[in-house]
Amino acid sequence: MIEARNTVKAFGQGDHVVRALDDVSITIRKGEFFTLLGPSGCGKTTLLRLIAGFEMPTSGQILLDGADITDLPPNQRPVNTVFQSYALFPHLTVAQNVGFGLEMQGRPRAEVARTTAEMLALVKLEAMANRKTSQLSGGQQQRVALARALAPKPKVLLLDEPLSALDLKLRKEMQVELKRLQIETGITFIFVTHDQEEALTMSDRIGVMSAGKLQQIGSPKDIYTRPVNRFVASFIGETNFLPATPVAGGLKLGCGAVIDTPTDATGPVTLTIRPEQVRITDPTEAGAIPATVTSLVYFGTDTHCHMQLSDGAEVVVRVQSPASGEAGVAMGQQVGLRFLPGAAQVLQD
Ligand code: ATP
Repeated sequence: MIEARNTVKAFGQGDHVVRALDDVSITIRKGEFFTLLGPSGCGKTTLLRLIAGFEMPTSGQILLDGADITDLPPNQRPVNTVFQSYALFPHLTVAQNVGFGLEMQGRPRAEVARTTAEMLALVKLEAMANRKTSQLSGGQQQRVALARALAPKPKVLLLDEPLSALDLKLRKEMQVELKRLQIETGITFIFVTHDQEEALTMSDRIGVMSAGKLQQIGSPKDIYTRPVNRFVASFIGETNFLPATPVAGGLKLGCGAVIDTPTDATGPVTLTIRPEQVRITDPTEAGAIPATVTSLVYFGTDTHCHMQLSDGAEVVVRVQSPASGEAGVAMGQQVGLRFLPGAAQVLQD
């Protein structure tokens, strides 16, 4: 529905050219909650600004429902943006802020009033309609900004790190709230964040970006369980990396153990496996990879057990913290490790 086709955006001149977007192609489907995820400076905001029409691509196109909108000014696109700073009008009331865009479009007064009331109900701020926005908490201001952006019923809502100014507890509440708003309105949301947990919990699909390029696009589960490269694997969640070489029957680790991960690689590869996908077993169990416990880090419900394999490689294993009185693994203990079937992934680079 929204498509960026071979978009390049370069800033600066001569020796100081930054390619904020380096040949990015992406299709975002109608009605989905799509998240652009990546570290600071990777080009997320630039892509959002191209979709909004605030920037022109150096080359490439932006399409909406198949039509080229690259040259269309922002106010003629059925797209609205919620900024991190909210950008509310402090001298106007909550209701006036929400109705502002509709009034600018010259909609009849009765329609403005009806839609404003509908939007305030949607974000649960009916009781605050006549307050000045300067008298609201951060979370309430965020809801006003959302209601204002949703009021003209855009086809696409762009959200640029809209929760980053909120404290952790409020941010978690607003994550649930945003997801509910997206489902209730059916509007396509394109959400920008550098917070991997936010991306995993809210999105239908995620586009992971780094250095102006899209690294992987997929559902949260795809991205987490099947990362294509080292960047994606390490940016999202915790993981282990292990060098391996192809042998008959699978991949051989540096310690000599063979993992039955299918591969068509002919040379050395890197395997990745999540800490919760490794089980600690008895070292004498058939097929167990011998390891030594080098440190234990307590995280409340979980404990991270750092293990060393016989070739010196490190593997972190996440286990449920033992209940009081129960014996867990101890520092220095010799154990066996078993990778859950299908859990180890071969990375492209
Ligand atoms: P953040 O999470 O910090 O907002 P981002 O992923 O949104 O980062 P962008 O704001 O898209 O990243 O920036 C991508 C790159 O382009 C950065 O190197 C940035 O410095 C550069 N850049 C962005 N806008 C401009 C501009 N107007 N002029 C020059 N360089 C720019």
